[in-house]
Amino acid sequence: MNPQGDRHPLAHCTLCEHRCGVDRLAGQTGVCRMTLPAVASATLHPAPPESYTVFMAGCNYKCLNCQNWTIAQTPDNGYPPGRFVPARELAHECVAWLESPAAKQMGADRIFFSGGEPTIHLPYVEEVVDEARRLSPNLKVNFDTNGYLTRSSLSKVLEFTTSITFDLKAFSNEVHLALTGASSAPVLRNAAYVGKHAREKLWEYRILVIPAINEEEIARLCRFIAEIDAQLPVCFLAFRPNYVLEHRAGATAALMDRCVEIGAANGLKRAYWAGQTGIPGLHRSHCNQVVWPYRQAGARTAGADAHAAGCRTHPRNCVACDFNQLCAIKGYVPRKNS
Ligand code: SF4
Ligand code: SF4
Repeated sequence: MNPQGDRHPLAHCTLCEHRCGVDRLAGQTGVCRMTLPAVASATLHPAPPESYTVFMAGCNYKCLNCQNWTIAQTPDNGYPPGRFVPARELAHECVAWLESPAAKQMGADRIFFSGGEPTIHLPYVEEVVDEARRLSPNLKVNFDTNGYLTRSSLSKVLEFTTSITFDLKAFSNEVHLALTGASSAPVLRNAAYVGKHAREKLWEYRILVIPAINEEEIARLCRFIAEIDAQLPVCFLAFRPNYVLEHRAGATAALMDRCVEIGAANGLKRAYWAGQTGIPGLHRSHCNQVVWPYRQAGARTAGADAHAAGCRTHPRNCVACDFNQLCAIKGYVPRKNS
């Protein structure tokens, strides 16, 4: 408790929409399985917006496609769990790097909190930003998020952030659950809020295009964004074979071009794509024959891949799953790393 009698947010954690209510200060864990804030790594990063990027360890999603799974699915996958860095120390480090000649040459002008998902460490992120702005009052900050925040967490983020990069994985709840283990409704609510009320902070919405899984979602997502504001920026990112989906082929350039066309056809004025295309998946024999409790083809495909990797509950829904403290997906190690 602080002198005003407020409980520390980690003592009854509802930072994200899983709303686990666990006491992380006492070592309890919710869906993300994280207790105290941990930094996986931090480095100057040339991807726009150029930044000093802080990768926070842990995530509230269990995405089958995760490209940062070694840090996002900690502490259950045997990889280093990140380390606690006092907020003041990290703030000094960020400011020093952003003032360095290397940062100037790169054009890096902000701290970029990523992960994993920085929302699960929000009080710590706020502390780092406060400290950093004491040292450098005009410092810019980007928050890179999967959007699964509570309204209260989102309003805190919008108070301190200069820019926000916002991932959208699927419009339909079924596909979103099958791919990430979390529902889409809070993400769409937050995406709409940012697009309507904080559009000057929106760097871009990012939509990772995963062949056969969320391809059918693209048009609906584009309409959803265009209905908020057709001028909002949308970047389609090409899926690369990764993690549980390492056997699936990467997105092709033709598919990415088609996404931009779908965006335009659905009213978007600022849609573009990025990423490396055409990467082959690892060969693996797998079985998609079981009829899953999923209606949509993309959800069935994701559900079958999750099942093959050990996910026990279908439809996937990590907060309601009896195995979320002993989850095979969080412990999964892809073949190319094993
Ligand atoms: S999953 Fe979300 S609500 Fe649950 S403990 Fe982690 S941050 Fe808190
Ligand atoms: S086993 Fe349960 S907690 Fe793990 S990914 Fe599947 S639904 Fe989520």
